[in-house]
Amino acid sequence: MKFNYTIKRNEKCRVCKAGQIEKVLDFGPTPLANAFLSKEEVNKEEYFYPLQVFFCKKCTMLQLGHAVSSKLLFDDYVYVSSTSPVFIQHFVDFALQVATQFNVKKNSLVIDLGSNDGILLHPFKKIGYRVLGIEPASNIAKIARKKGVDTVDEFFNIPLAKKLKRKKGKAEIITATNVFAHIDDLDEVIRGVKILLDRNGAFIIEAPYLIDFIEKRYFDLVYHEHMSYWSIRSLQTLFKRFGMTIFDVQKVPVHGGSVRVFVKHKSGKQKVQKSVLQFLKQEKKIRLHKKETYVKYDKKILQNRVSLLDLLTRLKLKGKKIIGYGAPAKGNTLLNYFKIGPDILDYIVDDSVFKQGLFTPGTHIPVVSPQTLKKDKVNYILILAWNFADPIMKNYSWFKKRGGKFIVPVPIPKII
Ligand SMILES: [Zn+2]
Repeated sequence: MKFNYTIKRNEKCRVCKAGQIEKVLDFGPTPLANAFLSKEEVNKEEYFYPLQVFFCKKCTMLQLGHAVSSKLLFDDYVYVSSTSPVFIQHFVDFALQVATQFNVKKNSLVIDLGSNDGILLHPFKKIGYRVLGIEPASNIAKIARKKGVDTVDEFFNIPLAKKLKRKKGKAEIITATNVFAHIDDLDEVIRGVKILLDRNGAFIIEAPYLIDFIEKRYFDLVYHEHMSYWSIRSLQTLFKRFGMTIFDVQKVPVHGGSVRVFVKHKSGKQKVQKSVLQFLKQEKKIRLHKKETYVKYDKKILQNRVSLLDLLTRLKLKGKKIIGYGAPAKGNTLLNYFKIGPDILDYIVDDSVFKQGLFTPGTHIPVVSPQTLKKDKVNYILILAWNFADPIMKNYSWFKKRGGKFIVPVPIPKII
């Protein structure tokens, strides 16, 4: 194990800038969740980074205490959104809903921050808008351009916002889906958004929701890319500092439970909906603003770890063959923290050709194509991509008919 100190320890809260953050969760030294290894790399030394979650005593924001350089995290990213049909449909619906709800004129400019392979902008373009993606991972930006989605492969910041405003004018809609949790310097990004967003435009964020994270115990959403764990309260504290207002919140089912948050300039004409207050009330009820909530949560994760390891060990002692299904980033947090390696899981099946043939970071479990499973005699499948547990079990009903069983690892291990 090799520690890498090219990371930054955040002494101050990312949202309110107070120096009062306290550690509430610690997953130990962990490699980057998307740093899958080739056969040659498995035998070389690997980098590990602290993975610790902090609570801000002043504004109650939940966040990672360290920031790994974004260049390291996102420069050659392997996550390509459009490999999942569930996500493709989700973003088609997203574009249609926004177009109807805001009655945005055709030919208006829609900008997506962290646009990946153009999964959201593609449907916006089809509706008739001008679109522009910002995607720092050059390999993925190239894929988007091939699909006809104009994409800039740079990090979004104030100079880029100014340049784009000069070249393209202001945007009626700016979106940030599943990237807002990944931003270390939020001030720079929001200042950029303020420059580019039309007077009555909407900035729309979609991010995993803290209530789901707590209530469903989806602790494996903690990995280095996820620097912030968003509640509406924290987002409100953040945007207030920049003269912006949340005017609507909606619940969306992706990633185990996310929120879609609509933000405007304070002077923007949109009316603030009742939903905002309702979400804030619910967060208070669940005590998201109290440190004890996270201390209790930590104990529950520990229970989860003990019971899952107990179950898997008993099955192995009985001579059962267990494999994993899905190699998402969050799967690696679970595998590393629970110390589940190739001695327990023979291999992991994943649909993404980008991951097949590689090994999981830290735990070195081989990732293979679904074909391997078809030819093999396996007793149990541990579902690491839990947010797709239902469709996976449905697709693999033949495995059950053959006498196999599924294990869902969180929040309490369950054999199905
Ligand atoms: Zn704070």
